[in-house]
Amino acid sequence: DADRTLSPLRQPDDVDAALRPKTLDEFVGQRSARENLRVFIQAAKARGEALDHVLFFGPPGLGKTTLAQIIAREMGVGFRATSGPVIAKSGDLAALLTNLEDGDVLFIDEIHRLAPAVEEVLYPAMEDRALDLMIGEGPSARSVRIDLPRFTLVGATTRQGLLTTPLRDRFGIPVRLQFYTVDELERVVTRAAGLLRLELTADGAQEVARRSRGTPRIAGRLLRRVRDFANVANDGLVDARVADAALTRLEVDKLGLDTMDRRYLAMIADIYRGGPVGVETLAAGLSEPRDTIEEVIEPYLIQLGLVARTARGRCLNAGGWKHLGLTPPRDVQD
Ligand code: ADP
Repeated sequence: DADRTLSPLRQPDDVDAALRPKTLDEFVGQRSARENLRVFIQAAKARGEALDHVLFFGPPGLGKTTLAQIIAREMGVGFRATSGPVIAKSGDLAALLTNLEDGDVLFIDEIHRLAPAVEEVLYPAMEDRALDLMIGEGPSARSVRIDLPRFTLVGATTRQGLLTTPLRDRFGIPVRLQFYTVDELERVVTRAAGLLRLELTADGAQEVARRSRGTPRIAGRLLRRVRDFANVANDGLVDARVADAALTRLEVDKLGLDTMDRRYLAMIADIYRGGPVGVETLAAGLSEPRDTIEEVIEPYLIQLGLVARTARGRCLNAGGWKHLGLTPPRDVQD
């Protein structure tokens, strides 16, 4: 259904693995992140060392997992992936770490959701490549230190601020990912069309790119839905007209906003007269978890300048009013 197509979150049946770039050269956009990583990877390889630990942060679907895999590939090492909520006990993490091969990349998605006891295991592992194990119980308990293989921890999170300070401080290479520009998404979409053997015109690519919410994962999903539509309506050719018809049917508007984005804007406008309104109030009104509002819905609306986060709450900017087809109140400036 439309909700799943439009969500930037990973879905269990995602097929976008087929669209994943495999090298830094193939990876579109995120120029400064890409160029910095290239230098750090070259330097680590020249020294024969593991790459320093890397933290990726930014909204879902921007390429954090993809870059983690690319790092492993460019370093010529193995790749292991897990996620914060999956590691239930410190023993689970200890088992993962002791099973790594020399130089491996260990990717932990949603690293801010590690249990505190599990996180403590990471500190000596990241800093000293060591594991402190408690053996025995009561007065005879003692701690034993085990050496680990060299490894690179790659963590991913939506916002850097969600991490505890001791964890954040142990990443030598923090990398913020940004929303993609329309030009960059056009390249993502054109590349994906090639892989999907899909006939796509330049204006078709631009239409999909413009409405992908700055997010490659959404661009890939929209492209597949547009393709279905084109198969039925246009002999399979995706041009701007077919793309527009398909996206309109999916209720993706000209700015790429979906129904949830518009409900969010409309709630601030209609019920709170443009704000300020607190995020908890909005979460209750929209029946969405606060995390979803802060990490999925708001970042793009803020980037577009439709909404502002202020100390007193969320406020609609003039652009937000106008996007809803409403006239901004006189005290709201552009
Ligand atoms: P995240 O881990 O940040 O949620 P992913 O790395 O899983 O995002 O990326 C989601 C999908 O978007 C990938 O499977 C890939 O198809 C596509 N993608 C992400 N970044 C790029 C990029 N720079 N160029 C092309 N495709 C990309």
